[in-house]
Amino acid sequence: MLEVKDLTFSYPGAETPAVNGVSFAVSEGEIFGFLGPSGAGKTTVQKILNRQLAAAEGVVRYGGRLLAEWGNDYFEQIGVSFELPNLYDRLTGAENLSAMAALYKADSRSPAELFAAVDLGDALAKKASEFSKGMKQRLVFLRAIQHRPKMLFLDEPTGGNDPATTEKIIAVIRAEKARGATVLLTTHDMHVAEALCDRIAFIHEGSIVACDTPRNLRLEFGQRGIEVEFSEGDAIGREVVDGDSDAGRARLSELLASGSLQTIHSREASLGEIFIKLTGSELA
Ligand code: ADP
Repeated sequence: MLEVKDLTFSYPGAETPAVNGVSFAVSEGEIFGFLGPSGAGKTTVQKILNRQLAAAEGVVRYGGRLLAEWGNDYFEQIGVSFELPNLYDRLTGAENLSAMAALYKADSRSPAELFAAVDLGDALAKKASEFSKGMKQRLVFLRAIQHRPKMLFLDEPTGGNDPATTEKIIAVIRAEKARGATVLLTTHDMHVAEALCDRIAFIHEGSIVACDTPRNLRLEFGQRGIEVEFSEGDAIGREVVDGDSDAGRARLSELLASGSLQTIHSREASLGEIFIKLTGSELA
């Protein structure tokens, strides 16, 4: 669906490229995630792919055709949810959707149905200027999906929202995949990446440092921990034992043999921990 090869882009005057030799491909119906901290280059990749930024080096193909060969019909194919909400402040929530819907040939979904799905039901008639940051982010997200695009570019779609609302947005993105949409999602939130992505590219300082399914990333780079609790006289000792090393296995045998072991839980490495291992940087 989308193929990107050796994508490189520098902002004018910058000493280092914001995006440096990035290659990846997204299959039809896949949710592909870019996970990385602020400044890693995620938004810049999105902007190049949705044609807000031109003059990048490299090759981008969408639907087998070079991006440069697509006319304005490209914008019928895609839906874009921006990280920084760009809304008409003086229009209501519903009017913000309908103003955009009028630009598309395809029929758009009803604002009421969309708003209800992300807990915005009360905000249809409210001016966008009165929306909170999280509400604006949801409105920008709904605007991106309302015309049922084949390809979605979602830049931090859950930004500014609490965990419960984030779950609702995640459910809507899953429904988009179920209807056949392909999704490129960027986030610095490992929980969002984990919940949604078929494959994840870790991006750090403009480059992809690893790219695979969450499961394979864990198998390849994660360290399995075993959380144990054991009695130490009157106190309770807690430890995370390395399940992959001889020393860790020996420690576990020792605890088992001592009879002091009280609880034992396996614990997989989080994507955030793997990111630190690969890059030395934290996600947030
Ligand atoms: P992310 O989305 O991962 O937070 P960005 O793509 O926004 O990262 O930024 C990548 C790099 O490009 C950062 O070093 C950032 O400071 C720089 N950058 C982003 N936008 C601009 C801009 N408009 N002009 C100059 N530099 C920019």
